[in-house]
Amino acid sequence: MKKENECNRIMDIYLGLDKGERVPLEVTLHLLTCSKCRKQVRLLKSAEKLTRAPLEVPVPIDDAAILSVMKSIDPNYSSTKNPISITKWIVGGIAMILFMLTFGLSSFQEADKGFLITFYIVFALAITSYCALFVGTNMDYFVKMIKTKKILK
Ligand SMILES: [Zn+2]
Repeated sequence: MKKENECNRIMDIYLGLDKGERVPLEVTLHLLTCSKCRKQVRLLKSAEKLTRAPLEVPVPIDDAAILSVMKSIDPNYSSTKNPISITKWIVGGIAMILFMLTFGLSSFQEADKGFLITFYIVFALAITSYCALFVGTNMDYFVKMIKTKKILK
C-alpha cells in the first residue's frame, strides 16, 4: 500500500508539470524503478500525441470536410463561386468609408475631443474588421491569386 501511495504522488508531480518543463530527478528515478508508472507515462505521451496530431495536418481550403460544413450552413454554398462578388465588397467598403467620413466631418465643429477619439477608434475598428471579413470570406480568391502569381514568375 505504501508503494501505491508513492506511485500516486509521483504521477501527481508528473501530471503537474508544464509542457517542456524538466522532469524532476525523483520522478525520473521512480520511473526507472517502477514499470507500472513507466507504462502510465508512456500511455499519457501517446495520448497527447494523438490529440495533437490532427492539428498538425494542413487542411486544404477545398477540403471535403469544410465543404460539407459550409453546405450544412448554407445549402447553396459552392467553393467555385464567391458568395459575394469582389466588386460588391469594394463598393460596400467605399460606401462605408464615405458615410463615416461624412458623418465625422459634419459633426466635427460641435463635437468635443472625447467624441472624436471614440469616433475614430470605432471608424478604425470598422475598417479593420471589414477588411478581415473581406479577406476571410474571399480566401479562395486570394489563394488563387497568389498561386497564379507564383506560376507567372
Ligand atoms: Zn510507480
